[in-house]
Amino acid sequence: MVDKEFQLHDIVQMKKPHPCGENRWKIIRMGMDIRIKCLGCDHSVMIPRREFTKKLKKVLESASN
Ligand SMILES: [Zn+2]
Repeated sequence: MVDKEFQLHDIVQMKKPHPCGENRWKIIRMGMDIRIKCLGCDHSVMIPRREFTKKLKKVLESASN
């Protein structure tokens, strides 16, 4: 299985969409916890890194490109 790689400012897709209907999130903080912001409604949530990795579906846009 390929390791999911992500970094600050990436646009990611989660396994579950946000209740607002959007399923694109931007990583706005990285650390022990990851903070992501919904691109639909600007709501942000903080998730422990391990949980984030589990819930991450894929990286849509890498900030390094
Ligand atoms: Zn939302």
